[in-house]
Amino acid sequence: MYNQYQLQSFLNTTLEHLKQHELHPIPENYKVWYEYTSTSTPQLNDEIDALIAQQIAISEEICHKLLKKYFVSDEQKDFDAARLAFSHLLNIMISQIANWSDSSNDFCQALEKCTTRLNNDPSISEIKDIITDLTQETLTISSASNDINSMLSSLNGEVKQLRKDLEQAGSEAVTDSLTGAANRRGLDERLQAAINEAKDKHRDLSLIMVDLDHFKTINDKFGHSTGDKVLKLVASIMKKNLRSSDFLARYGGEEFTIILPNTDLENAIKVAEHLRKAISAKQLSTGRNGQLIGRLTMSAGVTQYRLLDNAEELLDRGDNCMYEAKRTGRNSVKSDLDIVNPLR
Ligand code: GH3
Ligand code: MG
Ligand code: MG
Repeated sequence: MYNQYQLQSFLNTTLEHLKQHELHPIPENYKVWYEYTSTSTPQLNDEIDALIAQQIAISEEICHKLLKKYFVSDEQKDFDAARLAFSHLLNIMISQIANWSDSSNDFCQALEKCTTRLNNDPSISEIKDIITDLTQETLTISSASNDINSMLSSLNGEVKQLRKDLEQAGSEAVTDSLTGAANRRGLDERLQAAINEAKDKHRDLSLIMVDLDHFKTINDKFGHSTGDKVLKLVASIMKKNLRSSDFLARYGGEEFTIILPNTDLENAIKVAEHLRKAISAKQLSTGRNGQLIGRLTMSAGVTQYRLLDNAEELLDRGDNCMYEAKRTGRNSVKSDLDIVNPLR
């Protein structure tokens, strides 16, 4: 653990590095150089030192690669880096304001001293001295306030950028980059919140599990990148056909999950049927030469929240219904109503 003094010194040195290499104080760059300064990742220091020795400019792009290589295994780390940089910038602001507050205290004391001297029947020459002292003190405070003003306005820009990065990192952490739907982590968060709300407010809640049928054959016949495009298209068709209060997530691979708050089983089945028809109605073709892919179908499982369900039970039941749709021939929607021995 580092003490406050060491942290402050790391912070200053990190900012000096960023300045020296003409790098923006964005979280990614900040994280790389903070780690370099603290020497907590020796291989990173070796790599940077080697680049410097070869007189290779350490660009934003290099920083990005170093960050990915040494620190970022998932989006959470981007988020942590942004948070770290943000809190350090706040620390700089606090220390600048503390300095300003010291200067303004000094100024108040100087004013009080001058008042006392004026009250003690000063001579003409003493009054001249008081005026000289006062002018000096005013200059000092005004230069301190200029310093803090320019510091604050430059920090303001940095803070705005950091806030943007932080928001972006936060939303990237819960978004699937291919389809723009929520990812598994986003799903887990939202599902827990939806369950809490259904439980606390006695509201209906349903869930649809979707698995695309024979998706592997699309990859096999037309290539993985066409498969990717189809996944994107499917996500956008689903999104278009859902209410804004519904929540679409990519559960994994070619599987999607939809959370439907305030929706009972009967209505959720209707939604799933509507999606199934919308997707199978689309005649797909490859972008390049318009080669016909044909129609894609989906199998869906629909389940409704029951009191005391946890997220895992709800997902398992939805999955079970979806497998029933696969088992009975695909391109269909099955629900709790079709399962003879439902889990709980
Ligand atoms: P089923 O009807 O039984 O679900 O058949 P399927 O072929 O859809 O199921 P299977 O589980 O055998 O294969 C799923 C396929 O989805 C295999 C995998 O290559 C493909 N897939 C998963 N994720 C992605 C992805 O991100 N991009 C692409 N292009 N394909 C993916
Ligand atoms: Mg699957
Ligand atoms: Mg499938």
